[in-house]
Amino acid sequence: MSQNKNNFINVNNARADEQIEVMQKIADESHCPFCEENLRLYHKNPILKDGKYWLVTKNQWPYEHTKHHFLLIYKEHAAVLSDLAAEAGSELFTMIKELEKEYKFEGGGFSMRFGDTDFSAGTVNHLHVQLVIPDAMAKDFEPVKIKLGLQWDRRK
Ligand SMILES: [Zn+2]
Repeated sequence: MSQNKNNFINVNNARADEQIEVMQKIADESHCPFCEENLRLYHKNPILKDGKYWLVTKNQWPYEHTKHHFLLIYKEHAAVLSDLAAEAGSELFTMIKELEKEYKFEGGGFSMRFGDTDFSAGTVNHLHVQLVIPDAMAKDFEPVKIKLGLQWDRRK
């Protein structure tokens, strides 16, 4: 397995320079940055909600052209969908519905990558939902893109 990719991290999928630096450090530590005991080491944004299955926070490196970019992070280490408790889906939707109300979302979308990070294009291989509200009223707005899969020439 390469240095940039291990069971927990795929630095090849990182976007911002600072994110690449932090992710490289995490890769060297060989632990999962989204497991609760490590999250506080790297993640600087406050936890907005703490459920039985999910934590809600904001992405430290929001996608370009987003008004809000939340992360809903599964509280146990999980990398594939089969790892999820069935009731976790219900709590996930409840939390997203609450956020919709609290932040008065005009519209947006969410995605959850899973499994092998060459396929998912995830940076952290611990199940989390990206909930994105695009900044669609901004003058310089461009559509927010969510990527799946990593091209061959970026795999190290
Ligand atoms: Zn984890």
